[in-house]
Amino acid sequence: MKDFVYVVCPGVEQYSFSAYHPLRPERVTLSQELARMLGVLRDEDIVEATPASPDLVAEVHSPRYVQVVQALSEGKHVPGYHAFGFASGDNPPFRGMFEASLAVVGASAAAAQAVMDGARVAVNLAGGLHHARYEEAAGFCIFNDPAVAIHVLKQKYRRIVYLDIDVHHGDGVQWLYYRDPQVLTISIHESGRFLFPGTGHPDEIGEGEGRGTSANIALGRYTDDEIWWWAFRQVVPALFRRFQPEVVVLQMGADPHYTDPLAHVSLTTQGWLRAVQWVAEQGIPIVATGGGGYSLTAVARMWTLALATLKGVSVPDQIPPQFALYDEVQTLRDPELPALPERLREAAMQFTEQSVSELKYHLRPYVDWGDAREEDEKAGSKHSGDSANQ
Ligand SMILES: [Zn+2]
Repeated sequence: MKDFVYVVCPGVEQYSFSAYHPLRPERVTLSQELARMLGVLRDEDIVEATPASPDLVAEVHSPRYVQVVQALSEGKHVPGYHAFGFASGDNPPFRGMFEASLAVVGASAAAAQAVMDGARVAVNLAGGLHHARYEEAAGFCIFNDPAVAIHVLKQKYRRIVYLDIDVHHGDGVQWLYYRDPQVLTISIHESGRFLFPGTGHPDEIGEGEGRGTSANIALGRYTDDEIWWWAFRQVVPALFRRFQPEVVVLQMGADPHYTDPLAHVSLTTQGWLRAVQWVAEQGIPIVATGGGGYSLTAVARMWTLALATLKGVSVPDQIPPQFALYDEVQTLRDPELPALPERLREAAMQFTEQSVSELKYHLRPYVDWGDAREEDEKAGSKHSGDSANQ
């Protein structure tokens, strides 16, 4: 088995709600193109996935919902279909959506299988559709491919971490495993007070046997590199130490970038990359997916950097002139930090500090946070501000 596997999802071009919808398939194809141009992605890394079977999808979604998606996809009228999440402008039903969604799930399942077969890292950038619920499409997501990947991994592993760095709460995955003690879900996102889907608050910590296996870092608006990294370090290393995962599913939504049109977090490409780097350094097998990200120039650069980091290869910063978006951006790393009024930055810091302290309070029976303080001291104080240079 290869060390690094990049799963190509043949149906990715078909996963498109409309020509004007922000979830454009070019997000994935442009990232692949840039990663290839820079030598990060090579032919020998690539594995082509086959579509998932409807039965596999029905392991995490209700069989009735799977049937509804298939019928709508064939253009049939399904009475009451609105209740399955297809009413909002976010998820208009489209012809072929069943096959396109099965293709995405198939690629994430293939990535999970590759890791089970011995790959250190396997990636499906077309995946990461983390909002889909048990019987409901939501937030551009029809089938929840990260949840299916976790289901596949459970054949082999008993302690699985799902880490979600998308700017939106990873709600679908959280709710599907909310009572499962074998799956720890961690999501770092703009607070649900300000942003879709409105959940991901510090008191959502799991239920029943799964109590203590859900963690939510809810960020203030305009959270920048420094605050984001501080919050990550405060929470994630202690959770990993406590839970001792055997495998990590990493959802790499690129929408915390400061140019993203759908959210209000202010990260740079290199600031966001630190979380990917940290996960890569843990020596735990990784199934990585894409996720949100609606600024094409940011997504392609962030996912190229992430692929290089996960693969463990260096990458030149300079973008080749033949890249389609070269006129708009010339380097992988953002050359400068976004300007932010001090008042907004202070508010972001206060909100995030409060939120992290609430998270620690709610998870106190399950996690020893004493270590988190040491971790923070090792990393330098939160105001030292070295994040801009890495
Ligand atoms: Zn998102």
